[in-house]
Amino acid sequence: MKEQALSFKSRTRAALANKTLKTAIDRTAGNAEVKRTAAISEFPQFPAARALGRRIKDHVIGNLEHYLVEFERNAVRSGAKVHWARTSEEASRIVVHLCRRTGAQRVTRSKSMLGEEIGLPHALEAAGIERVETDLAEHIVQLAGETPSHIVWPAMHKTREQVASLFNAKHAVHPESDSIPDLVESARRDLRQKFLTADVGISGANFLIADTGAVCTVTNEGNAELTTTPPRIHIVTAGIEKLVPSIDHAFALLRLLVRSATGGDFTQYTTFHCGPKRAEDADGPDEFHIVLVDNGRTRMLGGGLAEMLRCIRCGACMNHCVVYRQIGGHAYGATYPGPMGSVLTPAIDGLAGSHDLPNACTLNGKCAEVCPVEIPLPTLLRGWRERSWKEGLDPLTVRAGIGLWAYFACQPLFYRLATAGSVRWMRLFRKGGWIRWMPLAGGWTKYRDFPAPQRSTFISAYKAMRKGSPK
Ligand code: SF4
Repeated sequence: MKEQALSFKSRTRAALANKTLKTAIDRTAGNAEVKRTAAISEFPQFPAARALGRRIKDHVIGNLEHYLVEFERNAVRSGAKVHWARTSEEASRIVVHLCRRTGAQRVTRSKSMLGEEIGLPHALEAAGIERVETDLAEHIVQLAGETPSHIVWPAMHKTREQVASLFNAKHAVHPESDSIPDLVESARRDLRQKFLTADVGISGANFLIADTGAVCTVTNEGNAELTTTPPRIHIVTAGIEKLVPSIDHAFALLRLLVRSATGGDFTQYTTFHCGPKRAEDADGPDEFHIVLVDNGRTRMLGGGLAEMLRCIRCGACMNHCVVYRQIGGHAYGATYPGPMGSVLTPAIDGLAGSHDLPNACTLNGKCAEVCPVEIPLPTLLRGWRERSWKEGLDPLTVRAGIGLWAYFACQPLFYRLATAGSVRWMRLFRKGGWIRWMPLAGGWTKYRDFPAPQRSTFISAYKAMRKGSPK
């Protein structure tokens, strides 16, 4: 749920012109890529774990109703109150109502992309409730008045130096330097008192455990525990696809999630929240609410996108995406960026306003290769392209261009003449094996060089090879 005042192309142009953005993305995504590769190479069971992860998710998706009923029954038994929301508006209305009912003035929130999806930050502010983001990156994004640009590292678009000047401007006590430990210390100082004085703590969920009714959160900062323990009320917002049958299944998926997201063996904090505080507990909330959100997910089940519901939000697909690495998350103009976002956004927000996203992909297949639950992202993106074409959503110029190409491609003689002519034409502009500028190709050559084609076309080279004289 984001404003889309500018078109995707305008946002992309602005992102490509921003050199600091490129530095920031390369530092974090590059690091994540290296760490993931190392973690997978030290985990020989990865292919088997991946196949198991896929089976677990497929099983739950195929029996969603059964596990939802089981989860609700056990969550209620543990003392939780379960709420159901069909849409994003309904979900944020339920959360705001729960906060207002208790007269909450301040709420703390640990990172949840579902919260962003349902527009919760905006809904809380519109209701006059102070919202405090407690995840370090979300804290940065909130101070900057921005939205997350990555599902695991929401502030990936900012360099350490930019964060230092932001903290200098916004924190009462300035950080001592722009080193990471000093920046973390500065955020800790700013947030500590707010953790202890919040009326409500809101978290997301990494997994919902059906046979116990527990909610699992994983963080590296411990902020989810500090968000959910001191306040009197804990509200969880979670998509219905987060279900797993049991804690064993959650651990099977955690082995994939952490390695794929950060390259670690395990996160620093993995917590299972099960109902409100009991008489014998030292701390914990008096009320524990779980808001289960559909927001288009059951539609995806029947609409050829069921495989997308396997997603465990690790972010590996965007860290390895050549497009995301150039333009960053904000250019997508949606809650979920990168390859997974380009599949999810049309399903959640509608294809009419987001049909550019499935086209922002080279289909090189890297995202599917790294996805820990084997989601065929390129196939799903192609599915959206086909639908966009059938619904006539692509611009007239694109439709006319593809129509023209299709005509030539279906006429072998014309096709050969056209490709031979194009090769000759393109070679006129080559310099040292590359084309740096060419009429009608400015959209490409403005940002990257194009390899100059070989002298002969594939067909003439093939013919020559068949004659026994390969060129
Ligand atoms: S689509 Fe796969 S790689 Fe991308 S975030 Fe989801 S689980 Fe991770």
